[in-house]
Amino acid sequence: MGYGAKIDVKERTTITKLISASMLYDFLQCAHRPHMDQFADPKDRDEPNAFVKLLWENGNAFEKQVISELETPFLDLSDKFGDEKEHLTLEAMKRGENLIYSARITDGDLVGEPDILRRDDRGYIAIDIKAGSGEETYGDDKKPKKHYAVQLALYTDILERLNYSAARVAYVWDIHGEEVQYDFEAEIGVRNPRTLWQDYEEVLNKVSVIINGENITLPAFSGSCKMCHWYTKCTSDLESNDDLTLIFYLGGKRRDAMISSIPTISDLAGCNIQDFVEGKKTIFPGVGIKMLEKFQVRARLIKDAGDPILTNPITLPSFEKELFFDIESDPMRDCHYLHGFVERQSRDDGSEKYVSFFAKDVSMEAEEKAFAEAWQYIQASQPCAIYHYASHEKTTYKKLQQKYPDVCTEGQIEELFKSENFVDLYTDIVLKATEWPVRSYGIKYLATYLGFDWRDKHPSGAASIEWFHRWTETGDKKIRQRILDYNEDDCRATRVLVDGLQDMMDRQK
Ligand code: SF4
Repeated sequence: MGYGAKIDVKERTTITKLISASMLYDFLQCAHRPHMDQFADPKDRDEPNAFVKLLWENGNAFEKQVISELETPFLDLSDKFGDEKEHLTLEAMKRGENLIYSARITDGDLVGEPDILRRDDRGYIAIDIKAGSGEETYGDDKKPKKHYAVQLALYTDILERLNYSAARVAYVWDIHGEEVQYDFEAEIGVRNPRTLWQDYEEVLNKVSVIINGENITLPAFSGSCKMCHWYTKCTSDLESNDDLTLIFYLGGKRRDAMISSIPTISDLAGCNIQDFVEGKKTIFPGVGIKMLEKFQVRARLIKDAGDPILTNPITLPSFEKELFFDIESDPMRDCHYLHGFVERQSRDDGSEKYVSFFAKDVSMEAEEKAFAEAWQYIQASQPCAIYHYASHEKTTYKKLQQKYPDVCTEGQIEELFKSENFVDLYTDIVLKATEWPVRSYGIKYLATYLGFDWRDKHPSGAASIEWFHRWTETGDKKIRQRILDYNEDDCRATRVLVDGLQDMMDRQK
């Protein structure tokens, strides 16, 4: 589930075989989710996790704030539900109300609850209020978000079927106060002649087939699972089915391409890859020969409970002093609130300490101060090796430098990143030169495999964002300490990984 997503619980719980906007959204996260929501035993559902609840609360609070600041008079249907809400929406459109808040419209098997219906001289346009950016950013380019687009298109489709649509256009009122237009008939990009409407129709058809039981989907282990209320049920099914998606990076699409020939991890571990090769390709679309060989190595490690292996030579910086670095950020408020470091003076004496720079609140001043102090600490610690896991630290420092150019220059940041002493363990080492007997190569999986235990029983970046929100609301020192402990453990997990890699290198000597 993406940041800023707003879940319409009312929609979900009142439908039977109706297709709602949130179903289309969920389908884009995981094709199996509409099937589970429709057909699985509700007793198998997990409680929504605290971060998902926070997203709901955040979305609802933002919507209320936007509505409270509306200067145009509007019809408020937010205290109405189901058929009554729908009836009052239709009456309001017949009357020609200019602005309807919290509407409900249906046609056939489609049901939508757009936040706003706004009338112009041609008819009505749907608007959703989103506690996230209205568009995706790619470098200097911006593009519509597909998961917003399908929801808005469903409202527009219903309006069209009811003869109330002004045009195939809708809007998002986003977290930045922008009104972002979604033009469903425009081509998505120069290289992509498709339209958002075509995307919508395709998704709608697929969801329709799934919820009518005409296509049985399978669970597929992915990054979306941890946030999903079917996590326990699906992972249990995946494990008992020895499902291929429990191999790191294999994913649902490749599994579906392979499953009729290679149904399980055991089958992949034991097969002869050449049986599935034709010329320079495998018989599986989207799976090259090298990739299939890599998946087989992973399958064998999982099945044999083998030790992780080096697939390429690696070198680690040879400085005595090492920093293990991790940043905590709140994407909902675009705030980077904690820079944590575990500092080890030398591997021989093993002594280490945790150093942190925690923004005292969510203001820009506090964020800049934490960044400036962390930057000074990095400078003062030189020479040393600095390890972090994945791209978050780099992208965050680039963003912070642009936001606070007085702290350091772009050139200084680039110089730090280019230095061989600044190592992204995930991108530069784990992905390029290692294989592990675990289903994900996230730091939690690798460090846990190496025997590390987080003090928190349910550690995750999403959970720490939820704690941060609670701390900013309450100022509770225990919550602040929980965030620090979690960040410290993430830094220590990075150190455990470096030591694990060193052991692998030593074993290969
Ligand atoms: S747990 Fe994973 S596979 Fe199952 S429905 Fe949720 S996202 Fe899909």
